[in-house]
Amino acid sequence: MKKVVIIGGGVVGLCSAYYLAKEGHKVTVIDHSDMNDGCSYGNAGMIVPSHVIPLAQPGMISQGIKWMFNSKSPFYVRPRLNRELLSWGRQFYKHSTKKHVEKSMPALRDLSLLSKELYQDLSQSANFQYEEKGLLMLYRSDYVGAEEIHAGREAQKLGLEVEFLEKAEVANLEGALPIDVAGAVHYKSDAHLSPSLLMQFLKDECEKMKVNLLKKASISSVDIQGGNISSVEVKNINILGDEFVICAGAWSPEVAKKFGVKLQVLPGKGYSFDLQNEGAKPSIPSILCEGKVAVTPMGNTVRFGGTMEITHTGDHAINPNRVQGIVDTVNAFYPEFKMQSPPTDEVWHGFRPCTPTGLPYISRSSNFSNLIVATGHAMMGLSLGPATGKLVEELVSGSTTSVSIDQFSF
Ligand SMILES: Cc1cc2nc3c(=O)[nH]c(=O)nc-3n(C[C@H](O)[C@H](O)[C@H](O)COP(=O)(O)OP(=O)(O)OC[C@H]3O[C@@H](n4cnc5c(N)ncnc54)[C@H](O)[C@@H]3O)c2cc1C
Repeated sequence: MKKVVIIGGGVVGLCSAYYLAKEGHKVTVIDHSDMNDGCSYGNAGMIVPSHVIPLAQPGMISQGIKWMFNSKSPFYVRPRLNRELLSWGRQFYKHSTKKHVEKSMPALRDLSLLSKELYQDLSQSANFQYEEKGLLMLYRSDYVGAEEIHAGREAQKLGLEVEFLEKAEVANLEGALPIDVAGAVHYKSDAHLSPSLLMQFLKDECEKMKVNLLKKASISSVDIQGGNISSVEVKNINILGDEFVICAGAWSPEVAKKFGVKLQVLPGKGYSFDLQNEGAKPSIPSILCEGKVAVTPMGNTVRFGGTMEITHTGDHAINPNRVQGIVDTVNAFYPEFKMQSPPTDEVWHGFRPCTPTGLPYISRSSNFSNLIVATGHAMMGLSLGPATGKLVEELVSGSTTSVSIDQFSF
């Protein structure tokens, strides 16, 4: 059994700790926060095997440029003369090809389906409001509808169960709640859960298995002996390890730098807020495609999430125009909501860890044989957390991985 040190205790770090501890490894998680409110807590809670097309795809750059000029749009790149941003942009451009998409889709599908299976297992032992109701991609215009139907057909070719719904069929599904749409693509494969309940479950399980959770802690230095990492220093204490895992989300590049490793990950800031009112609410999670807004029923509330601002981790500002953009989209799709923009102090924000390939990094580092990187899941980190954790455990244990990780190197 090995001593494993994990840096970052979001969903990826905790899932890794969970599967490692289950196999008997001795695990320490180091996290610089109090592990209560990061990206893994306020997200939209969707488990998305439907998302087989990576972010880097043809048409994304031209669409992104159009959105840059609209202050309420769901996408923005904070312009900076910064080497990391320029190099990330170059790589994103290079990967926005049909060939890259075709190669990535089966790999993403396999990773997602593994994760869903693991969620089905985990949900047997705890209630984190896991439900399998699928995901509706709702659209209002024919143009966006055509894009969504095309994506749905591609997913069908990969074996996912997909239905194409007319306006009246969407209305039937959501009964009491009027929805103003032209149609929807229903991915039956998808599921949803409450992220905060899931994270509490993972922390509780890790503590039961004696995982050492070091909160408000970060590493000040790394000790290398004979070409391998031997320990990291935290609060003047040396923590020895046989294996080290970086899963610090959007902060992974700065953590990796301490190990002398270069990682291309940029933060994609997104917002969410919850609606508590008493009226009719959607019962099936959906994405309002024209505005890229995620809508998830969570217990008695509904969570709305959106925007992707490529920025830096020091940027905690809530942009009221973009929040208004989310609200406008919601009101267009659900005319009876007549929602007002929430006060900015009620808007949560989180940083999605985005790679320029649109694929996560789940791989051993070429710099050190005992360093693993597991990050860069962008808008799918919650969905892919368990599969990533399981793969990290398999890499540490030296067993054959459950799915191929060839495309997840960095
Ligand atoms: C609005 C929004 C909606 C989303 N909806 C969904 C969804 O429906 N489905 C889905 O799958 N995904 C969704 N996501 C994406 C998902 O939330 C992220 O991909 C996921 O949370 C990333 O998890 P992580 O563990 O990699 O990173 P994080 O959750 O960011 O965890 C990283 C951890 O590392 C710690 N850390 C940072 N720096 C250091 C350091 N120097 N030393 C020690 N620790 C450090 C941080 O404190 C943090 O706890 C959404 C994101 C947003 C913003």
